[in-house]
Amino acid sequence: MQVKCSLCGKVEDITKIHKDYSKLAKNQETPYFCQRCSMRVKHQAKCAQDMPKPI
Ligand SMILES: [Zn+2]
Repeated sequence: MQVKCSLCGKVEDITKIHKDYSKLAKNQETPYFCQRCSMRVKHQAKCAQDMPKPI
C-alpha cells in the first residue's frame, strides 16, 4: 500500500507488518509519517515536554 508522509510528502510503500497499516487501510485520512519524520516528531514532542510551560 502506498502512503504519503504528512510532513515531507515522501511516498512510501508499506506492508501489513507496518504498525500503522491497519489504521491507514481503514482510514486513508490517518496521518502517516515516514521514519525520518516520525523520529523528528517524537524528538519535538520530547523537547516540548522538557520546556517550561508559559504562564
Ligand atoms: Zn517524512
